[in-house]
Formats: sequence, C-alpha cells, structure tokens
Amino acid sequence: MHKKRNLFFRRLLLWVLVCTLFINAVPVYAEEENSSSSYALYTAPHAASAVCGSFSVGDSVTLLDTVSPLWNRVRLNDGTTGYCDAALLGKMFLDIETEAERLIGAVRTRTAAIVFQSPDTDSEPLARLPANALVTVLAEGVDGFCMVQLQNRKMGYIEEDALQHQYEQPALIRTVPELSAAGAVTEEEAAARLQELSAYFQHGFYWNCIGTGQRQSKDNLFLITETPCHHPSQGYSYCNIYTGTLCNAYPEYSTAMQCFGYVNLLSDLVFGTEAPVSSHGSFDRIRVGDHVRLVLWDHSMLVTKVCKDENGETYFYATDVNADYDSCQIQWGRKFTKQELRRLGDYVLVQTRYPTEP
Ligand SMILES: [Zn+2]
Repeated sequence: MHKKRNLFFRRLLLWVLVCTLFINAVPVYAEEENSSSSYALYTAPHAASAVCGSFSVGDSVTLLDTVSPLWNRVRLNDGTTGYCDAALLGKMFLDIETEAERLIGAVRTRTAAIVFQSPDTDSEPLARLPANALVTVLAEGVDGFCMVQLQNRKMGYIEEDALQHQYEQPALIRTVPELSAAGAVTEEEAAARLQELSAYFQHGFYWNCIGTGQRQSKDNLFLITETPCHHPSQGYSYCNIYTGTLCNAYPEYSTAMQCFGYVNLLSDLVFGTEAPVSSHGSFDRIRVGDHVRLVLWDHSMLVTKVCKDENGETYFYATDVNADYDSCQIQWGRKFTKQELRRLGDYVLVQTRYPTEP
C-alpha cells in the first residue's frame, strides 16, 4: 500500500516535471500586478472564525493537513499556523522518499496494529490497536518501527507500515480563476492566461467533485480533487460540468461535461464569455486557445502552443481532461500531430474565439 502510494507520487512528480519542461518552453510574460490578492488565515476551518494572519498570491506555505477538501491547515513562513481555503493552494510534489515523507505528531493507524515493547516483532506485545486509532509519534525510522505514545501514555513501537503517513508539503498560493465577459484578444495574451490557469488546473489532478461534499452543479466549476472518477463504475455523477459559449457551436450538447466541459470553461476563462465563436476544419489554421474537437472520437482539447515541424507541418500542444475516457484527469502538454490524427482515422473541427482570422 505504502509502496503503491510512493509509486503514485513518483508518477505525479514525473508528470509535473514533464509539464514544467513544457511550461518553461512557453514564453514568460510579465505577471499582472494584482494588489487585491491577499487572503486571510483563520484560526479554525470556518470563514467566521478569527483571522490570525494573511498571505498573498505567489507566497509559498507549508501544507500540514488536508482537514477537508475545502479547508487545509497550513504554516506560513513566519511560523503562524491556521486554516485556509483549500482552493488557494497549488500543491507541489517532492521526492517524498528523501524530503517530505515524515511521520509527525498525532498519527492514525492505517491497519490494526500491535504495539511492541521494543522495535522487534518478537518482543513483548503491549497493546493491540484497531485501524484508525490515534497515537503520537515520538521517533521514526527505528528499524522499520516508530516509537509512539498511546492515549493512556504508554510508550512502545509500531511497524511504520501500519501508520497513516502524513506529509508536510510545500504549496504555492494561487488565485482561483474568475469568469468575465472580456478576455484575451491576441495569441500572446491567450498563452499568458493559459499559463496562469495551469497553476490552478494542475496537471495530474482531477476536474471533479469526488469527496468534496459538493454536488455536480453548474456552480461548482472550480473543484479540483486528487481522486479519479471511474466512469465505468460510477457513471458521470461526479464529473464537473460547465456549459459555456463554445456550446453555441454544438446545439446537440445541452450540458457540457468532462473533456468538453473543461475546454468550454478554459475557453471562456481565456477569451471571456462574450467572445464570438467561429468554426473551421483546417488543422493548419489552429491557434493558441482554440478548441480542437476529434469528431469521431468525441474528444475535446484546448490548444496551448502551435508549432511547425521540419517539413512545415503544423502540430500543437494541448490541455484536456479524460484523455483515458475514464477519470477526468487534467493533462497539460499533450503533443498532437497530423500523423496521430491519421492514425486515429479522425478529422478535426476547430472553434476559435479570436474576433478575426489572421
Ligand atoms: Zn469524470
């Protein structure tokens, strides 16, 4: 279980690295000054509780505990700890084997566990704990055991694998995107907006509402979770929905969800809800921010960068969700070529939001 989890985080780390490489290849534009982007740190996981500190977009903080999908406990750089809106935290994954993996303070058992007198399964058992029992870790890494104190103050040793690992994780404060009527007009502006959005719609996370206590709703556009949908078993009841301006070009869709909903949302966030929609079917006219629809495969992507290969053939990079038709996982940096289009036996329909074609 623990090894699997490490593998999961390693894979995520790899994806983030791949994604970072891609993002680094995109020209960096001056960040907009935003003086109103300061947020309160609360003493309890509730917006009505007392404020104990503040932080700003771009600050790095330490994530201590994901209290709920909506509230996280964090530590600011000045040492203040408190609670903040989980949506503000852009999480970063480290090589947890070397740095972030720590069993700290109050920890729960992952499985039923025996507390031994010494770090040895042949030593005298002092207590038997059920799964989810609370202990205090006093020391870790003792021959595969942790030294713990129980609720009754007794001390002993538990095998590390029987404890739920907690992670002190760095996080970067980000803004929650907002829809507005107007948006990017040029491709440079669209690329800059997409770069900002990639900090919120994080690669490897899931655009769904699983475990948030929120329902699938047109009002819950910005829920991002760490839990995959599983469409074959759950259907589409946890996938986020957003029926945006792009739907004007697809009268057959009264509700947009999964890849099409995600692309609808990003398109409106980049260009504004009032930007016009026009359609064409030419791969060579694709521009940054366009919606590319694979018609036969029923898949939508939003273009993040357009390039030409050595033969002058157009290819592009895109962001999408649900590329596996299974999980609504967010992906940035997918490269898509004409060759791949031919391999899929498909053709594209493109919606652009630019007021005039070049
Ligand atoms: Zn889904």
